[in-house]
Amino acid sequence: MLLEVRSLSTAYQGLLAIQEVSLAVAPGEIVVVAGANGAGKSTLLKSIAGLERPRSGEVAFDGARIDGLPGHAITARGVAYVPENKRLFPRLSVADNLRLGSYLHRRAPDREAPLARVFALFPRLKERLGQRAGTLSGGEQQMLAIGRALMTRPRLLMLDEPSQGIMPKLVDEIFAAVTAIRDTGVTILLVEQRLAESLSIADRGYVLQTGRLILSGPAAALRDDPQVRRAYLGI
Ligand code: ATP
Repeated sequence: MLLEVRSLSTAYQGLLAIQEVSLAVAPGEIVVVAGANGAGKSTLLKSIAGLERPRSGEVAFDGARIDGLPGHAITARGVAYVPENKRLFPRLSVADNLRLGSYLHRRAPDREAPLARVFALFPRLKERLGQRAGTLSGGEQQMLAIGRALMTRPRLLMLDEPSQGIMPKLVDEIFAAVTAIRDTGVTILLVEQRLAESLSIADRGYVLQTGRLILSGPAAALRDDPQVRRAYLGI
């Protein structure tokens, strides 16, 4: 397994937001974690990325423990995280936001090597290199946030609700890009409320409810699960 989360619990002011969550992601997979608002999806990703400190449990990446490491050290190991609020630098240009993504590799002669891949995925970004990030549309900002994460040369890319606040036409583009990124060898852990779309590109999925995992399985099995269909697919 590339990522293994074992019995992870994280609390805010004593209140558990995730409880004993265990999941695994194999190399080359797209795995989706679904759940309603407040289920703990973002807390799970932040706890893996080193932005929240778990109260108990373990996170292993490529066989080595990473829980307890600071976020930048986890990024350096090959785990990239695109938060829900994207955290772009709105006054900086698209080009500078992308450059900041390659900061870890600042001394590498091929620092900007992943740029070609980012432009192939998102040609719009190439057209807008000089534009301030804050003036991009919601969809373009999501593309930039994903592009910046790819500049860190991740082996695992974690995306927190990439479809949120984006017009429907671009949602398809983002999901297609996620598949294309996986096809270049990057493993994907995706958190989404849009379960139908995300299951259509995922290999496997987990369902989180009030901090606990209640279901898991192959994407096709989850799509057919009566509980999932009722609660998340509106069927
Ligand atoms: P959404 O889809 O709305 O983003 P989510 O599934 O990502 O929801 P989380 O953001 O992980 O859920 O929140 C899980 C729980 O933890 C919620 O009850 C939330 O109010 C609480 N929580 C999240 N962040 C904090 C924080 N910084 N301080 C206190 N409580 C928090």
